[in-house]
Amino acid sequence: MIIAVDGPTASGKGTVARNLAEHYGLKRLDTGSLYRAVGLAVLDAGGDPADVRAAVAAAEALDLDAIDENRIRSSAAGLAASKVAVIPEVREVLRRAQKAFAADPRGAVLDGRDIGTVICPDADVKLFVTASLEERTRRRLAELRARGEQISFEELQAQIAERDERDMTRKDSPLYQAADAHLLDTTVLSIEAAAAAAYAIVDRVMAARS
Ligand code: C5P
Repeated sequence: MIIAVDGPTASGKGTVARNLAEHYGLKRLDTGSLYRAVGLAVLDAGGDPADVRAAVAAAEALDLDAIDENRIRSSAAGLAASKVAVIPEVREVLRRAQKAFAADPRGAVLDGRDIGTVICPDADVKLFVTASLEERTRRRLAELRARGEQISFEELQAQIAERDERDMTRKDSPLYQAADAHLLDTTVLSIEAAAAAAYAIVDRVMAARS
């Protein structure tokens, strides 16, 4: 079973995907971490994430097993990620890695922006997870503050809105809800309630198919 989970930043899609993977015994790929790792590698080298050559070289050199899960969570890495993500050559390199992951016959859960539309258009179940901009900002702010990052609500909300805009308007693989994706709005849902709603969707879709 392949489950595709897409949605904007801090919508809860990562948590939903992690819970789905655990619930159904599937492996999971957080595809945003690939773009974050590429963006961070460019920043670490003193480069500009919008520089095509630097970003493509970083994508080609990416080692999935060596991603620093802590450092890629910074707001700077997130912003850099959304800049390298508009470069088609970068997406092409990362697309190959994601498709290889999804080709595992044991199945998988992948979460990102273009999983149901580009990476796994034939996924068994597609979820589009969203939440209001205010709620997403509150969640990301709590995460960043826990990491010791100082940023105001207003500044972060503007950053998230900027990333949403870039993700939804880029030419290559923009973020949008696939026609056959099930919408899951987590604005007023707890983590447990969002997970339960996701399991209900997956169970319903799989039951209807069998
Ligand atoms: O999901 P996360 O916020 O970690 O993703 C960081 C950035 O990576 C996104 O803002 C987006 O620009 C990019 N991304 C993408 N396609 C994906 C996953 C992430 O373009 N499948």
